[in-house]
Amino acid sequence: MTRNYDQNNIFARILRGEIPNNTVLETNHSLAFHDINPAAPVHVLLIPKGAYVTCDDFATHASADELVDFNRAIARVVELMGLTAGYRALTNAGRDGLQEVPHYHLHILGGRALGPILTKAAPLS
Ligand code: AMP
Repeated sequence: MTRNYDQNNIFARILRGEIPNNTVLETNHSLAFHDINPAAPVHVLLIPKGAYVTCDDFATHASADELVDFNRAIARVVELMGLTAGYRALTNAGRDGLQEVPHYHLHILGGRALGPILTKAAPLS
């Protein structure tokens, strides 16, 4: 997928301190904050601080330190948010994934039963 990074996307602006966020966790290479429009009682976004567009961009180009930091941060967010009954971690990428913000982010959702991951209303073509 393309990795043209838009330096003015909203998460880049959050990382530069131009826009406030409700921080859950900050580490050397990652930031987690509450989603502004939560889809569940717990809805945290975890982002790398580096300029990566999608999950595959991050997985391909991030350093080992960044990759470890991000994955450890997932576990810390789950613990901090008390998601003992389970959670869903998902990422949207590109046009078909309906990605709105072109800076890689992992949605971590929980706090209630979340239902099926995809609706089956639309037939596959
Ligand atoms: P996606 O469709 O996967 O790109 O998701 C983007 C997410 O970013 C949505 O769930 C938005 O509610 C969330 N979002 C957009 N702007 C902000 C913001 N300023 N602070 C926190 N979350 C935001």
